[in-house]
Amino acid sequence: MPKIAEIFSSIAGEGSWMGRPATFIRFSGCNLSCEWCDEKHARSGEGEFRSVEEILEECRSVGLRRVVITGGEPLLQKEDCLKLARELTKSGFRVMIETNGTLLNRLTQDERVVLRECEVTVSPKKGNVSGNAVRAAINLSAQFKFVVGENSWKCEEVRELVNRYSIDRESVWLMPMSVDGEIREELAREVWKFCVKEGYNYSDRLHVRVWKGEKGK
Ligand code: SF4
Repeated sequence: MPKIAEIFSSIAGEGSWMGRPATFIRFSGCNLSCEWCDEKHARSGEGEFRSVEEILEECRSVGLRRVVITGGEPLLQKEDCLKLARELTKSGFRVMIETNGTLLNRLTQDERVVLRECEVTVSPKKGNVSGNAVRAAINLSAQFKFVVGENSWKCEEVRELVNRYSIDRESVWLMPMSVDGEIREELAREVWKFCVKEGYNYSDRLHVRVWKGEKGK
């Protein structure tokens, strides 16, 4: 039974689903401890155990077609995460799995098959990137979402990584970090201009702009 920090419905604020309504299932626990983490309750392991069937039923009752499985790090609870993803896709939901990518290269072939039926977004964390994990993500046709800001990625470091592993620029998203529920406009413009120059996608953080980091939005 997976430990879940929260389930809520909202508008996706980041990446390729930005602006789309979705149900969010936030898995509890993480294997990293990013200084600027804005999901500290999930990182610290808060939450309750819910059965896959119960979660599936809740998604059905919410009635939105898209489901985002996020964290924390959902692949820390790999078996339950993949079982849930498989049941959701079988039931006709469009599923996105958001991961920090560090555990992707440990998946078996069968587990990768489940992920291929979902959309996978990898948000690599500076200092925690391995070549094998990046190659595993590319192999899954994952999108890469980089948070740019203090103590995280610099634009030039993203370019270096993208070039080193020949990541398709179409699958690269850069977004400005938020601090205390705010996005600095100066940083947003810098990231925006860099994306135009390099042919990367720019992602805003709509939930931060509208809800200032309020939990469950
Ligand atoms: S990987 Fe994500 S959830 Fe985990 S500590 Fe870093 S930002 Fe927080």
